[in-house]
Amino acid sequence: MYQTPHATKAVIFDLDDTLAPSKSPLDPSMATALVSLLGRLPVCIISGGRFEQFQAQVLDRLTAQEQILGRLHLMPTCGTRYYRRRQGSWSQIYSEDLSAAEKARIMQVLEETSKTLGYWEEHPRGELIDDRGSQVTYSALGQAALLGDKAAWDPDGTKKSLLVTRAAPLLPDFEVRAGGSTSIDVTRKGIDKAYGVRKLMTQLHAAPEELLFVGDRLDEMGNDYPVLAVGVPCVPVTSWQDTLVVITQFIEWWDEGTGAPPFRIMSARPHAARRP
Ligand SMILES: [Mg+2]
Repeated sequence: MYQTPHATKAVIFDLDDTLAPSKSPLDPSMATALVSLLGRLPVCIISGGRFEQFQAQVLDRLTAQEQILGRLHLMPTCGTRYYRRRQGSWSQIYSEDLSAAEKARIMQVLEETSKTLGYWEEHPRGELIDDRGSQVTYSALGQAALLGDKAAWDPDGTKKSLLVTRAAPLLPDFEVRAGGSTSIDVTRKGIDKAYGVRKLMTQLHAAPEELLFVGDRLDEMGNDYPVLAVGVPCVPVTSWQDTLVVITQFIEWWDEGTGAPPFRIMSARPHAARRP
């Protein structure tokens, strides 16, 4: 597999810490790179954030013709929702909403787990637990915490791992994953980024190996990990600057039309991975 760049039917990106810093707008250089990529093939963005977050971080920063926007697939809240461009506006294709009882149970477990571990913040910036309809997200310092504070809270991921390890057995009917630097995302069992990616595969009539995913949380605890498990070739990054390099290299590779990709690819099917 992966003989030529044109075997790739679409590129999928995580948003926070992959296309932009957490909850921050795209850098103009990234916006330009994305439009350039969209000129070549479909692009999907799948993130733990709400649609409104996509609007503020991505859509408000993209200047592109309708034809280009028509190639953009948006999957907020880990693919539990799906939006496409229809007649000049963004329309929702589906939403896998949680029931009120499910959300109440998730919120209770997240709060109790956080308190047990001593992580419950008494003076957060914004809500600690956010009801996103199809997803519940716990953000340890609050939804509106400052970037620097968030980065310093759990730099090696130990706290998020502990939260996931403690909360997951109490929520057997749900997916519990580490999202951003301070957040844990909970969705219905089987409804995670892999679910979103499978929906995209159906839309594009694509096999897993015909997609390429770029994300910063491909570790086993991370919310990008399910995509790797689907068999989609994945490119690990640590920042948006990293991703910008990958996009530039992808475009050069695409335009060249031959050879092996110049960036590192991870794959759940080891023989399929290519490491230059
Ligand atoms: Mg991320």
